Amino acid sequence: MIVILGTKTHLRHAATFQGNCPHCQLNQVDFELQLYCDYTHLTFIPLFPVKRHGEIHCTHCNAYIEYADLPQSSKSKVDAIAHQKRIFPVWTFTGSAVILVVICLFLKNWYVKSHTDYPLEQLQKGDVVLYETENGYYSTFKILERKGTTFQVLVNEYVQDTYFDLEDLDIPSNYGKQKESLSLEDLNAMEENGRIEGIEKSNLNSF
Ligand SMILES: [Zn+2]
Repeated sequence: MIVILGTKTHLRHAATFQGNCPHCQLNQVDFELQLYCDYTHLTFIPLFPVKRHGEIHCTHCNAYIEYADLPQSSKSKVDAIAHQKRIFPVWTFTGSAVILVVICLFLKNWYVKSHTDYPLEQLQKGDVVLYETENGYYSTFKILERKGTTFQVLVNEYVQDTYFDLEDLDIPSNYGKQKESLSLEDLNAMEENGRIEGIEKSNLNSF
């Protein structure tokens, strides 16, 4: 397929109004106003709009009239019509929207991938997970036991407000008696939400 980048002109709106023609000097003639919008396109897909412009012509003498040559009363009529149509049509942004969606998907994939260096399914007893709490703090929990895809974890009683040196929180006296049960699904959900900051493998285990 040949990819062509170009600009197209689209007639957005046509209207008539009455006024005095500076060309044929007739009073109260019908003017035709045509409002256009130019947009760039990639082959057939509109990317984004570039500019608005318009044409005014006298239906009596057929002359094209410059906006600047119109009497003030006619200018006001043109302004009012153009003002109603000042927003570019949504479809002229189609290509940009598609490109934006693709970039977002790419970034999301990149983000998930870059945060999926921790094989959660390989977590074992003794491993410590560094994570972000639901309130935006950072803490750790330790895997006490694993049964299939369910983990009994011991929750750290301390939190800190940065993930820097989070592993320093991982000292035995910081862990109380609060145990929780987490499924692999829970952990994966945390990971997808970017809440897993790292895993400290127990010396007993290795990936
Ligand atoms: Zn005229």
